[in-house]
Order: sequence, then C-alpha cells, then structure tokens
Amino acid sequence: TEEVLRNTEKLVFAGQLAMSIAHEIRNPLTTVKGMLQLSNKDGKLPHYDLIMSEVERMNLIVSEFLILGKPQAVHFKNERCSAILQEMLGIFAIQVRMNNITVTRDFQEDLEIKCDRNQIKQVFLNILKNAMEALPFGGDIMITLAVEDGFQTITIADNGEGMSEEVLLKIGEPFHTTRFNGNGLGMMIVKKIVSAHKGHITIKSEIGQGTAVKIFLPA
Ligand code: ADP
Repeated sequence: TEEVLRNTEKLVFAGQLAMSIAHEIRNPLTTVKGMLQLSNKDGKLPHYDLIMSEVERMNLIVSEFLILGKPQAVHFKNERCSAILQEMLGIFAIQVRMNNITVTRDFQEDLEIKCDRNQIKQVFLNILKNAMEALPFGGDIMITLAVEDGFQTITIADNGEGMSEEVLLKIGEPFHTTRFNGNGLGMMIVKKIVSAHKGHITIKSEIGQGTAVKIFLPA
C-alpha cells in the first residue's frame, strides 16, 4: 500500500505540474496562432500550413493536460457525428497528404449522438492521431458509423503497425507510451470522456496488421 500511495502522490504531483505548465503555455500559444493568421492575411507567408498545423499540435497537447487535470463542464447536445469527424479530419489534412494515408469514411448510417461536442472532438482527435502515428509509411484509415445492439458505434481502424499484447493491456494507463514524443495520456482521456458519456470502448490490435478502436455510445 505504501508503494501504491507513493505512486498516487507522484501522479497527483505530475498532474499538477502538467496543469500549471499547460496553463502557462496556452496564452502565448494563442497569441502565436493569432499573429500567424494575421501575418498570413494575403496567404503568402512561407510554410504557413505546416507552421499552423504544428501550432495546432501544441494546442492539442496543452488541452490534453488541461482536460486531465480539471473536472470538465459537460454540455450534452445532439450532434451529427459525421460533421464532427469531418472537422477533426481537417486538422490532419496535411499529414494525411504528406504521409500517403487514405481515409475511407463509411458514413452511410450517420449518427446523431448526444454528446459534449468539444469532448467528443478530443476523443476523435486522440484516436485519429494514434492511427496516423501507426502509419509512418502510409496506409489506410477506415471510419465506420453504425448502430448495433442498442449502441451507436464509431470505429476508427488503421492497417498500421499494431500493438503487442503487453502494450494493449496497459493502454489507457497514464504515461504508458511507446512513442518518442508521446505522453501516454491520449487513450486515458478517451476512456475518461467516453465513460462520462455512459459509453465504453474496445480495442482490437495485431502487430503488423493494424488496430481498430470502437466507441460504443448508448443509442
Ligand atoms: P501516446 O499517443 O502519447 O503514446 P496514447 O494513450 O494515445 O498515448 O497511446 C498509448 C500507446 O498505445 C501508444 O504509445 C502506442 O504504443 C499505442 N497505440 C495507441 N493507438 C495505437 C494504434 N492505432 N496503433 C498502434 N499503437 C497504438
């Protein structure tokens, strides 16, 4: 128990530290983004898209930390799932093109999901980011919306590198990462948000075959 306590203390401390850094970084980042947009008013700033997408990436990391540390206010509304996914895919447009990734959308059965839009955006973002990272040499991402057994399901599958059983077992534990620039918080946030929506996720993965993350939301 002492060990568990010490670990918990460490986590709480790491959490507080992460929160305060995130807070400090957020404001200057907002300024950078604003100035960047202003400087590119005529659309002629060199490397604008790349710089902007990297700024967005920093924003993402910062907001991940803030989400973890703070109890979130939730505003449940009916939202069109395909529209939110489409918006999130937009953030990865450059990466998709540069890394030769093909995104296939099966949105035939569009879902109207009752959710907190910002939080669900974060869920899609984190899962899509992982899928992209699993495809460093290109490949396919398949997104499928469906209704099954009283659940609305959103499946995001990639045919990338996949995970070993060991990694899969620990997924969602804080700071568990195999990525050089990862923080191991992404899937923890995904699980936290999905369960706040009274849903759950399943993950199927095989080394060299790919990974499918399936979100279940109560219909
Ligand atoms: P991070 O991306 O910062 O490492 P996550 O919690 O999002 O944190 O993911 C934890 C780990 O799970 C990753 O480091 C990676 O090893 C593994 N993982 C998650 N999604 C995938 C995926 N689609 N394909 C392969 N491995 C994955």
